[in-house]
This record gives sequence, structure tokens and C-alpha cells, in this order.
Amino acid sequence: MLKIKNLKCSYGSIMAVHGVSLSVKQGELISIIGGNGAGKSSLLLAVCGLLKTWEGEIEFQKKNIRGMSPPAIVRAGISMVPEGRQIFSPLSVLDNLKMGAYTRYHRGLKQEIQEDLEMVLEMFPILRERARQAAGTLSGGEQQMVAIGRALMARPRLLVLDEPSMGLAPKIVTMIFKVITTLRDQGVTILLVEQNARAALKIADRGYVLETGKMVLQGSGEELLVDDDVKRAYLGQD
Ligand code: ATP
Repeated sequence: MLKIKNLKCSYGSIMAVHGVSLSVKQGELISIIGGNGAGKSSLLLAVCGLLKTWEGEIEFQKKNIRGMSPPAIVRAGISMVPEGRQIFSPLSVLDNLKMGAYTRYHRGLKQEIQEDLEMVLEMFPILRERARQAAGTLSGGEQQMVAIGRALMARPRLLVLDEPSMGLAPKIVTMIFKVITTLRDQGVTILLVEQNARAALKIADRGYVLETGKMVLQGSGEELLVDDDVKRAYLGQD
């Protein structure tokens, strides 16, 4: 579904991604792990058209999307849950969710959008209770639900999540990972970036390890969980 080949991107002279290749097949849940500054966020931003790339290929459903605008990439079927959630704080929960569908309104899909909204509110019942509340007044976990719900409102074929567990209490993290697994089981293909390596690899079909802008290791979630280097560097074990 998604094929990245030899991708390179930088911020001025700082190289963030140094020739990364990876693939995501339809229906898979792929986790990318790595330390701070490894280039995980930059890679996702590049896939979503939010960071300029210098070299390489990004192919989504056999179509070259490298260089396409972010809205065009959303229309092609990729939506993102960004790092730090980036919700529209003054807007209500409902308006935040509807914003996720903005590329679809002009196509006369109002009925479909309403059904999707209902699906999101069923997935996160607390958001129905908070529907008219300013999203900025929600707890961190609730805001993460808004960010995931907003991304789902674009009806993505590929959902890209950047550190959805960041700053959340363990109970909420468990809930968010459960939601991600449920979405995969419902057929949404998922590309997940996480510092919480153990949880991310546990739910992953396959995983990649990114270090200083390069992919250094890949394997199934189970393989990486028992890999000595992964254990030492990312799972806090000798
Ligand atoms: P983290 O988990 O800490 O968010 P990451 O793996 O997502 O890290 P990136 O945020 O992609 O890593 O950063 C990769 C490299 O690019 C780092 O060296 C970082 O300092 C640099 N970088 C990231 N954003 C910018 C920016 N806006 N301007 C300049 N350099 C940047």
C-alpha cells in the first residue's frame, strides 16, 4: 500500500532522514520505534506532504505522492494524528471532528460524514458527553481521542499516528493502544511512531527501528521484542 524508497529530508543543513526505505501492506499495523531525534516524526511529516523531501520515492496505492500537497494526500487516503495532538483548542469537540472531514464536504458526502461522526462518538462515548465543550478544556487523553477521531473523519485507508501515547497516564495509554488495534482489525492500515517501544511492538504486525535518520533493523513485532539490541536500547533490559 505504501512504499518508501531511499527517502531523504532535512531542515536546512540538518539531515533528519538519510535514505529510508520501508513498506506497509494493506491491513498491516506497522510500528516505527527509535530514540529522540531519530527522525521518526520527520519521516511521517514527509509522508503527509508536510516536510520537503530531497530524494527518494513515496508511493501510495501505486501512485507517486512525493511532492503532493497535504490536502491532496488526505484525499488520496492518508490521514495523520500529529505529535502533540494539535487540536483546535477554542473549537468545540464536534467542530474539531468535523474539521477532519473538510476535504469531503464539497463532494456532497454529508450523509456519509454524519455516519462517520456517529461511528467516532460510539468509539469514544466521552466525546459525545463533551461534544459542545471547547476541545482545549479536555484532558490529555480526551484530546488524543479527538485527534484520532478527527483523523478518522477523513475515512483514511492509511492512518498515520505520531506518538499517540505521549504524556498520557498508563490506563489511557492502554485504551489508546486498544483503539489502534481495533481500527486495524476493522481494516484500517496503520503506521505508528512511538517512543513507547514495548507497547508499540506488542500490537505491531511488523516493526522498524530508526536511528539517526536510518533504518537499522526490521522484523515482526515478536522478533523485535526479543531482539537483544532492541531490548538494550529501547526496552530497558540488559
Ligand atoms: P522525538 O521522538 O524526540 O520527537 P523523532 O525521532 O521524531 O524524535 P525528529 O523530530 O524527526 O525525530 O527529528 C529528527 C532530526 O531533525 C533531529 O536532529 C531534530 O533535531 C531535527 N529537527 C526536527 N525538527 C526540526 C526543525 N523544525 N528544525 C530543525 N531541525 C529539526
